[in-house]
This record gives sequence, C-alpha cells and structure tokens, in this order.
Amino acid sequence: MNITTPSSITVQKTSTSRINDVNFDSLEFGTVFSDHMFSCDYKDGRWQNAQILPYGPISISPAAKVFHYGQAVFEGMKAYKDDDGGVFMFRPDENFRRINKSSKRMAIPEFPEELFFGALNTLLEMDKDWIKPGLGNSLYIRPFAMATQVGVSASASNEYKFIILLSPAQAYYSGDVKVVFSEHYSRAADGGVGFAKAAGNYGAQFYPTNLAKEKGFQQVIWTDSHTHEYLEEAGTMNIFFRINDSLLTAPTSDRILDGVTRKSLLKLAETMGIKAEVRPVKVAEIKEAHANGSLKEIFGAGTAAVISPISAFSHGEVTYDLPKQEDSYAAMFKSRLMDIQYNRSEDPFGWRYRVV
Ligand SMILES: *Cc1c(COP(=O)(O)O)cnc(C)c1O
Repeated sequence: MNITTPSSITVQKTSTSRINDVNFDSLEFGTVFSDHMFSCDYKDGRWQNAQILPYGPISISPAAKVFHYGQAVFEGMKAYKDDDGGVFMFRPDENFRRINKSSKRMAIPEFPEELFFGALNTLLEMDKDWIKPGLGNSLYIRPFAMATQVGVSASASNEYKFIILLSPAQAYYSGDVKVVFSEHYSRAADGGVGFAKAAGNYGAQFYPTNLAKEKGFQQVIWTDSHTHEYLEEAGTMNIFFRINDSLLTAPTSDRILDGVTRKSLLKLAETMGIKAEVRPVKVAEIKEAHANGSLKEIFGAGTAAVISPISAFSHGEVTYDLPKQEDSYAAMFKSRLMDIQYNRSEDPFGWRYRVV
C-alpha cells in the first residue's frame, strides 16, 4: 500500500534514532516509546497544526482543564509484523469509531478520519523498525485526546490536543490471574461513561484493585452497580465464561465497553459452531456452575493481553479455584486471533489492515 500522508501533516524526523538503546528482549509494557509521535491541536473550532515529530515532553499549562476535570479519552491498538516485514493493524476502523464515541460523551470534538489514518500510516512507516517480527511482539498504539484550555472553571474546554504514541511490546504473559468479584465498588453506572475509554474510569479502578492485590488477587471483576449480582467486566477487559462447551458474556451497555477483542471472539465462535450466549451473567449461576463442575473457564479479552485466563475467583470470603483446562478455549481463541493479526492465516472477515 502506498502511504499517503495528508498534506496537512508536517513531518519532522528525529536526527538520532534511540532504537539501538532499547533491549527488545526485556520490555516492560508501556514504558518505552518509539522515535516519533503525532500531535494535533484543536483551536478556534477546528483541528490544526497536525505534525509528526520526535517523541518527547510537551509543555502544557498547569491550569489546563485536563488536570482538573479529567476531560480526556484514549484508545489502545496494536501493529504487528509478519515474517516478510509486512506491517498490519487489526480492525483499526473500530478503534477510530470508538475514540470518537468516547470523545462525544466527554464533550471533546470528534477527530477527522483522514488525519487519524494518515497519522497512523505515516508513523508506522517511519517507526516500523520498532516492530519486531515474531508471534507476540507488537507495537502498542496509544491515541489520546485531552482538554488543554487554560482555566479552572468547570466546563468543557475549547482547546484540545490529540496525540498518538507508539510503544514496543512483547508477548504479554499475565501469569496466574486470580480475581475478586466486586461486592461493593463499581466501575460504571447507568447513564455514566463506562462504555467510553474515558481516563477517569481507569483512575477510579486503582484503589479497589489495590485492595484486591493486598489480599493476594490481581484483578477485580466488576459487577453491576445496582445489585452487584451481575458480572460485567474483568479489570480493563471484557469477560467470558465457558460453561461446558458454550460461551457466556455480558451484553454491551452504557456501563460495558464494546471491546474489539470481545466482538471478534463472538464472531469466531459463531463460525466455529461454538454456542455463545450474550446476556447478563449472574454471580450465583457462576458459583453454581463451579459447584456442579460445568464451569470450565473464565477469561478476559482485550487488545493488550488478547486473552487472559483466570485461575481463581473469590466472592464473599470464599475462593473458588478453576481446574486447569487441557483443550482450553482461551488458548484456542488466542491462537486463532493472533494468526489473523500476524498474517499467518486467512482473514475471512477482512479484519487485517495492511500498513506497509
Ligand atoms: C479497552 C477495554 C476493553 C477491551 O477492548 P479491546 O477493544 O478489546 O481492546 C474492555 N473493557 C474495558 C473497560 C476497556 O477499557
């Protein structure tokens, strides 16, 4: 594909690449960034000053609204490389639509499609050496938008910055994930912003997650804020249950994020003849399924880890261990998805997007 950089994006290349300073065999997720970033400002009612420039600190007033009211949204996507050096993204149109959906809810002006894809394509072409081939290696892409208007009055900003960062990532092994079914805290409520990747959603999860960690668990499974009787999301992932040979996951709503991994799994399940039920999932039925042996697996689904198997859950003061599964759906779906992402299999759904 020919990379077309919209003429509205100016490109300033770094004079010295940092790539040789990076040890790609021991990357801590989200801590190292590539040579370049994209930045664009919203001012006087339009997005302008679109530029690709060397990655580095930016200067923002301490009175910028983002610091006071958290008016900010983000996305998380990845670029992958196949063994021939081809660079791919996975369903990036979904992320584009979703950041604008998140922005709308947070009163942030929508970002133009041509700039989004022009910036991504150009950045990935310029920094493609930061994507290492090999299953599991990727370049994590973090687009985000924030309110930059100076002034601490509590109202929507009239100025914003939209930035895209690239961070090399290795296979993400979450290890043995033990989770707590939340009985008090919630991450989202009806009419709120749970469906949006709004910055504050995540900040609000840290405290309950720390409480779970103090008790020896890694994540919180969020339950509905009314009754805490329904299981909704796994930390920052969508949640799936396998009961015998069927899948069960909660429907999206204004509390639940419409994950790209989740919807891709549901599509794969459909074409593989695996029954998938999308309906509210009760804590009580999962405990019952555990007791009668029909609960085979629980796993989270999201871009960063793809699939994250859960080894135990706690509810009340009781911890329930899940049996180790020989033919696990988690492993099977993960390899199916990654084969598509890394251009190792056919792409019957048109999910793969070739960049270079
Ligand atoms: C990002 C996110 C997901 C997963 O979405 P993907 O598009 O699959 O990466 C699920 N739940 C929450 C709360 C999220 O923020």
